[in-house]
Amino acid sequence: MNFQLEKAKILPKENLSQFLEGVRQFGRLIAPVKKKEKYIFSEIDDVSKVETDYVRTILPPKKFILGYLRERFEYSPERMEFVENFKPQPQVIFGVHSCDLHGIAILDAVYLKGDNPDPRYLAARKETTLIGISCVPDDDCFCISTGTAFPDGTSWDLFFTDIGDSYFVSIGSVKGDEIIHSLESIFREISKKELSLYKRVTAEKKHLFKDKNIPDLERITQVIELEYDSEIWEEEAERCFSCGTCTNTCPTCFCYTSVDMPSIDGKVVTRIEFITSCQYPYYSLVAGGHRFHENIKERFRNRYYHKFVGYPYQIERFGCVGCGRCQHECPAGIRIVDTLKKLRGAGDEEEPGKVTNDIHSA
Ligand code: SF4
Ligand code: SF4
Repeated sequence: MNFQLEKAKILPKENLSQFLEGVRQFGRLIAPVKKKEKYIFSEIDDVSKVETDYVRTILPPKKFILGYLRERFEYSPERMEFVENFKPQPQVIFGVHSCDLHGIAILDAVYLKGDNPDPRYLAARKETTLIGISCVPDDDCFCISTGTAFPDGTSWDLFFTDIGDSYFVSIGSVKGDEIIHSLESIFREISKKELSLYKRVTAEKKHLFKDKNIPDLERITQVIELEYDSEIWEEEAERCFSCGTCTNTCPTCFCYTSVDMPSIDGKVVTRIEFITSCQYPYYSLVAGGHRFHENIKERFRNRYYHKFVGYPYQIERFGCVGCGRCQHECPAGIRIVDTLKKLRGAGDEEEPGKVTNDIHSA
């Protein structure tokens, strides 16, 4: 369903707790909470702990949809019977920023495409309600470059835009409409003043990136393909620890591996899947000891290739939503925006977002 302005509503901020309590009827509530100096998505018992004013969580909300560790099925080696145990429960994920909503839209495109969608992912997605919230970028955000600074109406159910004393609540799906309907008494109609406030807040968002270090991603797919043999890969990878933090915190990375765990008596075996990282040395190791990505440079380059060359060919969009988690959390201080700028051949003197005139930006 597309964004429908005529159905949008106002939620006064003093009614937010009532909303959060009320929305539990649609499933367990998951929302951002503070953990020491950082934020995480967590299941909520006490709605007063929900944080609406945060920049980014350590892990993206995909951990409640895809899961970092999951049981796929059980089988009996004697009888060769397979049992799927996965039964997702209804859940409402509140407080998701636009970049992360796009991240889920990308996972949808990967897991649900074609005639054979992944049944486990499909089941989890069907049981998930997504409620987004507007945000203010910090110096690691570059969603304005990846085109993900605003929700596009394909993956979310409701979206809250902070307009001061209230939230302007946009409806993105039939489920979103149902939620508003069921909690009608705490919402009200939009006044003319609130509509212009919403327009102003939305229009001003792009100016919040004005003095930030954002990359020019125009034709970045071609730039990266042209720079396949560039020494920049080696230079950047020299600092990399292969720790996998960048992929583990990324809202669009989905590579996983699996092991079969037998019970003590050996009668039942459980297939466990868990998230892995293309940055780990063993990731591309195959039988016979061959490694498809032999060294750290190749693994480092592979991540950029997948995000900016592979995804566009597969799903016609970048595999990066500009959330900034990878560069915010990288223990080596490697910044994806700087690597992309170096590949384009831009010097430090380049102004944010400025398009250069060489072949890379033509
Ligand atoms: S987080 Fe940084 S150090 Fe760790 S694998 Fe990624 S780029 Fe390398
Ligand atoms: S590559 Fe980095 S900035 Fe892009 S979506 Fe992944 S974690 Fe976010």
